[in-house]
Amino acid sequence: MPMKKEKGVLFVVSGASGTGKSTLCRALLKNFPSLRFSVSHTTRPRRPGEREGRDYYFVSPAKFQQMIDRGDFVEWAEIYGKRYGTSRRMLHKARREGRDVILDMDVQGVRQLRKQKIPAVFVFILPPSLKELQRRLKNRETEGKVALGQRLQKARYEISQAHGYDYWIVNEDVEKAREKLKAIFLAEHCRREKMSGAIEKLLVEK
Ligand code: 5GP
Repeated sequence: MPMKKEKGVLFVVSGASGTGKSTLCRALLKNFPSLRFSVSHTTRPRRPGEREGRDYYFVSPAKFQQMIDRGDFVEWAEIYGKRYGTSRRMLHKARREGRDVILDMDVQGVRQLRKQKIPAVFVFILPPSLKELQRRLKNRETEGKVALGQRLQKARYEISQAHGYDYWIVNEDVEKAREKLKAIFLAEHCRREKMSGAIEKLLVEK
């Protein structure tokens, strides 16, 4: 009996800026070299240290609009006046090849994926408290143009949307949060493996 190809896991991670989401995603990518990061397109300017094609594809508003019109995005959202979108082609390719993909996405994007019933695992990273989030945001300069109050307001809104997710991780201790994200990833693989012919393989064994 031919073995069914194991399906990859689409791992979607959300959380307000300052929750440590990017650090956790990076750690997971390091732990699992076969895991791919979904590189989004954005109209926001590149920050120091960011690289085209690794962190984002940086495009002009006109190009982004053209991509929307062509239906290139499986989802897209506007955040602080800048646009962010996930390439439909990339996602389809990953699914076809059975790859694991991690996507860093805001709550608007998640809503769109859910609407389209795209199978994925949704993880929400929470700060230990709003006070702590405020402290972390104050220490960040990269998003300096957006007022702190505005970012906190957005964080509150995002947190209010967390009930639509499969898993929550409170990032109080980064080491523990990293372990939790890893555990979720591994657990989701055990679920998939069960569904992809592991039992059939045992049963046909002589
Ligand atoms: P940043 O500008 O700090 O890199 O990202 C701002 C926000 O955009 C983050 O909340 C991040 O999760 C979100 N984001 C990044 N890429 C995408 C995307 O392709 N789609 C959506 N909906 N949100 C994204």
